[in-house]
Amino acid sequence: MTTTDLPHIGHWIDGGHRPSTSGRTAPVFNPATGAPQANVALADQAEIDEAIASAQRGFETWSGYSIAKRQSVLFAFRELLNARKGELAEIITREHGKVVSDAMGEILRGQEVVELATGFPHLLKGAFNENASTGIDVYSIKQPLGVVGIISPFNFPAMVPMWFFPVAIAAGNAVVLKPSEKDPSAALWLAELWAEAGLPAGVFTVLQGDKLAVDGLLNDPVVQSVSFVGSTPIAQYIYETAAKNGKRVQALGGAKNHMLVLPDADLDLVADQAVNAGYGAAGERCMAISVVLAVEPVANELIAKISERIAGLRIGAGSATPEPHMGPLITAEHRAKVASYVDIAEADGAEIVVDGRGLTVAGCEDGFFFGPTLIDRVPTTSRAYTEEIFGPVLEVVRVSSYEEGVELINSGRFGNGTAIFTNDGGAARRFQHEIQVGMIGINVPIPVPVAYHSFGGWKQSLFGDAKAYGVQGFEFFTREKAITSRWLDPATHGGINLGFPQND
Ligand code: NAD
Repeated sequence: MTTTDLPHIGHWIDGGHRPSTSGRTAPVFNPATGAPQANVALADQAEIDEAIASAQRGFETWSGYSIAKRQSVLFAFRELLNARKGELAEIITREHGKVVSDAMGEILRGQEVVELATGFPHLLKGAFNENASTGIDVYSIKQPLGVVGIISPFNFPAMVPMWFFPVAIAAGNAVVLKPSEKDPSAALWLAELWAEAGLPAGVFTVLQGDKLAVDGLLNDPVVQSVSFVGSTPIAQYIYETAAKNGKRVQALGGAKNHMLVLPDADLDLVADQAVNAGYGAAGERCMAISVVLAVEPVANELIAKISERIAGLRIGAGSATPEPHMGPLITAEHRAKVASYVDIAEADGAEIVVDGRGLTVAGCEDGFFFGPTLIDRVPTTSRAYTEEIFGPVLEVVRVSSYEEGVELINSGRFGNGTAIFTNDGGAARRFQHEIQVGMIGINVPIPVPVAYHSFGGWKQSLFGDAKAYGVQGFEFFTREKAITSRWLDPATHGGINLGFPQND
């Protein structure tokens, strides 16, 4: 089959599939086989305009729906998702490569946000003060923004969009989602589900594309806000451009998450969790553990335990049975990038304890596989330490004290997640207080907050003022209006007063 014979993945505009006529496409690979399996549309300006105009019409309809009607659509969406999520997991595995149980894991975490959003009437309540001044009541109401843009990364094609769109839609907005061009089909499946749940046309739009589509959302005055998740340089670009254009913006970026292991920790628990959090989803998680900071004298014993566990990991196609522990990386280019960081660490004097470069999987020789890799004594000046690798590479840095570990974490430019492993409650409490990171695990390696707390990092892991979902999500997707009202008592008269209003 030549590339042009492959299926076309188009947009979802105005409540239905919309094949692209832009003439621009990108290949979508099956990462397990390395073969292209479809071509995804890359929107041109006409398609971007069409998507945003349809979303604006969708907003006008949807924002007029009563809370009760909106809530019934959200409940229907939740029920459909819950009943049919297996279909979505298969789509994710086919295009992303992660194992099916992990794809299901991301859907369940996204579903939590849908469930949070079904309770939206409570979160959209305003406030009322009677008699703020004599005869005057003051109240505030929360209204939707309008058309909101969501731009998502490849690594969670369902969960990351679900961090935002259930909340945005519940609050009365219309969403234009620009998924990653590397795994674009999950978004279309979700669009079909919304239609089945009764969401009016135009309220959920999928615009496939690249930088042109992103810039289209950033520059169109109809788009009121942008929620972005991806790498730090693009997050910063999104933040600056959207803000310059007067939009509300939250842009979540990259990460380099450290696990600080104190000498009193249970090293078997630590080794299990380091392997789970370092190699799950082949390390393509923004909350993956990338660095183990071992407070001496634990490093040798811990490295031995992690190496033992790595030897037992099965790597293969995400859809294989029995299910492997870990699937491939997303693309051949990404695999080359991950390998280049291992080369850099080696050149900078680190010790490669387990080397995943050059791994091949029988029957999937052309797949984008990279074996679990463990590197010891990584110099903290090496780019392999200071930059995000985003692959199954766990780096060990040996430190002599708790303080040295904290200093290293706090001096980094990212601040997404971190974890401490210890049995000392006082140390854990001190850690949570002084660490400069947005999400912290205490003996928990991937501390992704539940839906009713908010998700987001500090420093270069989040540009903007609002985290995703939770109460902050509702704040982001609504704007408040304050109303000062006087209904005249027939017995009173205002009279003339040119002074600035004062309360009495
Ligand atoms: P990416 O930055 O390459 O792409 C993200 C989105 O931006 C995609 O939709 C892509 O089409 C678009 N994009 C890419 N280049 C662009 C450009 N020059 N101009 C405008 N838009 C552009 O990220 P990715 O490789 O898809 O995802 C992996 C990254 O996402 C990692 O850095 C990871 O840490 C990060 N991530 C962060 C979080 C978080 O919560 N902080 C969560 C998931 C992923």
